[in-house]
Amino acid sequence: MDCIFCKIIEGTIPSNKVFENDKVIAFHDIQPAAPVHVLIIPKKHIPTMNDVGEEDGELIAEIFSAARQIAKEMGVAESGYRLINNCNAEGGQVVYHLHLHLLGGKKLGSLLG
Ligand code: C5P
Repeated sequence: MDCIFCKIIEGTIPSNKVFENDKVIAFHDIQPAAPVHVLIIPKKHIPTMNDVGEEDGELIAEIFSAARQIAKEMGVAESGYRLINNCNAEGGQVVYHLHLHLLGGKKLGSLLG
């Protein structure tokens, strides 16, 4: 499968990992948009948020649990952070393997205007 995040999961493309369990991995974004910028991804290849199924409930809970742990480990849990999922072209998605961006370490601007 020609998916860059699947290759990161397999280890054929290197990444700076901060978390891994049997269902989820997380690594530093190669183009950080904030002092803390970690991508949290399921090992299962799910292209977009639109492809998340009822059967993925436990997996989604694992992703959020990983986010909570990583925020604490990165020291941003109390100061604050943001979780973002970009879905499809107009949502700004570039890599079509479901991921959450965890951003923190500075005061983030409003996205909502
Ligand atoms: O949500 P979106 O698809 O736009 O984000 C993809 C992210 O994956 C980008 O922030 C990009 O820097 C990151 N990336 C990465 N390592 C790669 C390829 C992309 O951290 N090898």
